Amino acid sequence: MINENYARLLKRVEWAAARAGRDPASVKVVAVTKTVSSTEIKVAMDLGIRDFGENRFQEARDKIQSLPASIYWHFIGHLQTNKASDVQAHFSLIHSLDRLKLARELSRCAGNAGKNVAALVQVNISGEKSKSGLDPRELKDFLTEIRGLSGLEIKGLMTIAPLVDKPEEARVYFRQLNRLRAQTSVPGIDLQYLSMGMSNDFEVAIEEGAHIIRVGTALFGPGN
Ligand SMILES: *Cc1c(COP(=O)(O)O)cnc(C)c1O
Repeated sequence: MINENYARLLKRVEWAAARAGRDPASVKVVAVTKTVSSTEIKVAMDLGIRDFGENRFQEARDKIQSLPASIYWHFIGHLQTNKASDVQAHFSLIHSLDRLKLARELSRCAGNAGKNVAALVQVNISGEKSKSGLDPRELKDFLTEIRGLSGLEIKGLMTIAPLVDKPEEARVYFRQLNRLRAQTSVPGIDLQYLSMGMSNDFEVAIEEGAHIIRVGTALFGPGN
C-alpha cells in the first residue's frame, strides 16, 4: 500500500510543480512517521525515501536507534528547550525554531558537540492562538538577534496552515509565507527553503513555492 501511495504522491507532486512551472526535483517530500512503526519506515526506505519527520523526541528515539544512520531525520514538533541537545544530536533539520531561548540553547549544544545545527524558523502565519511560531512581524528582529549565534544555521521558514475544508483555502497562508521570505532580508541569513504543505494541502503549497512538504497520512494511510 505504501508503494502505491508513494507513486501517487510523486505524481501529484510532479503535476503541482508543473502547474507552477517548477522543477519537481526542487520539492522534497518528508515522510512523517510520528504514528508509524520502524517496520513501515523500512518499507518506505525500500522505496528510496530517506527523509523522515517526527514530532516528539521520546517517541522518535527508539526508531532512530533501530534504523540505519543514512536517514535524514526532521524534527517537526514543538521543541522543549530541555530536549534541544538530544534533537541536535539526532536530527538533520529542525523545522520548529520559534524562540530566542531555544536558538541560544541549540547554539550552545552545537558548540558542545562540535557539529552545526540546521533549523527553519516556524512562523504562525494564520495567527491562530493554538499554533506555535513567531508572529510574522517579529521575524526580522528575531533573525537579527540570532544571526550571530555560532553553530546555528538558519535554512528557511516553516508554517502549518489552518485546518480548512478545501485545500484552496490554505493558499493565502502559503502565499504569505513565501512573500514574507522574499521581503525579509537580514545580512548573513539565507532563507533558502520553505517547509509548508501536509497531506491535505501540499499541492497548493507547491504551487505557492514549497521546497519541503511534510506528508504522513497520504503516504502511510489514515489512522496510522
Ligand atoms: C503530523 C504532521 C504532519 C503530517 O500530517 P498529515 O496530515 O498526516 O500529512 C506535517 N507537519 C506537522 C508539523 C505534523 O505534526
